[in-house]
Amino acid sequence: MPNSIKHLTFIVMLMIGLASFSQAAEKVEKKEALAKHVILVGSDGFGAYAFEKAKVPHLRKMMEEGAYSLKARSVLPSSSAVNWASMLMGSDPVLHGYTEWGSETPEIPSRVVGETGIFPTIFSLLEKQRPDAKKGVSYTWEGIGHLFEKPWVDLDYNGYSEENTLEKALEFITQEKPALTSIHFNEPDSIGHEIGHDTPQYYEKVEMIDGLVGKVIEALEESNMMKDSVIIFTADHGGIGKGHGGQTLVEMEIPWIIYGKNIPAQGELEFPIITYDTAATIAYVLGLETPDVWRGKPVIDAFEKESD
Ligand SMILES: [Zn+2]
Repeated sequence: MPNSIKHLTFIVMLMIGLASFSQAAEKVEKKEALAKHVILVGSDGFGAYAFEKAKVPHLRKMMEEGAYSLKARSVLPSSSAVNWASMLMGSDPVLHGYTEWGSETPEIPSRVVGETGIFPTIFSLLEKQRPDAKKGVSYTWEGIGHLFEKPWVDLDYNGYSEENTLEKALEFITQEKPALTSIHFNEPDSIGHEIGHDTPQYYEKVEMIDGLVGKVIEALEESNMMKDSVIIFTADHGGIGKGHGGQTLVEMEIPWIIYGKNIPAQGELEFPIITYDTAATIAYVLGLETPDVWRGKPVIDAFEKESD
């Protein structure tokens, strides 16, 4: 082969090599949001077991037209703050340090703290990586107020009733078009403590929560936002008798339902979900990098498979 041809061959090979290298690099770096808006709806004490007896048409619609698991698990103990913390902080209690039902500060020093002094939540990822994106929290139980970076959210509202919590959240969603809104309902946990789990009164509250979820879907549809949104419905724990916190599956198993943009109708997921996978899944939907101290995995089985 004459030298000039050898030279040309080398250049062509080099160009092909560079092209495939840059494609590979692009694949790794490219993190596109899969939806513009994520609405996380969490219902305190809503055990996965409730689906056997409750009439929950709105949640059923989300399950049929989206994806779900009724075998998602809480972390231990199966109590409130420790689980809400894990859900928003994408990690395990041994790392974030919130370990009790009413933890306001971590009992174990958080392995990592951000600028506001707490373990990094999903809200901090948005703050750092997409500073222009709006984000907010509306919650009926004041305990939630200790579990996110207050200075960084555009809505921090502790509602005086479930309806009021919802009303404020929907006003925020439709007016501000936020990237992330977290809504916390305090039922059916209260009735579970007062009257008992798996009682007619418990199912009444479960069905009331289903009605509120219906209002979230309705508001998103009416404001033409549903086509760009993902709704995740889950809970912190279930319960047994008048309590929870223990190691039975009726206390630990929680619903995990995802519905909306880029979520094909595929019903039940096999993926073994733990509550800290919720934060990782939200990060995945919003195209955010997650920190090493997180332990959650995105529930990628729920999403449209890439066509290439
Ligand atoms: Zn409780």
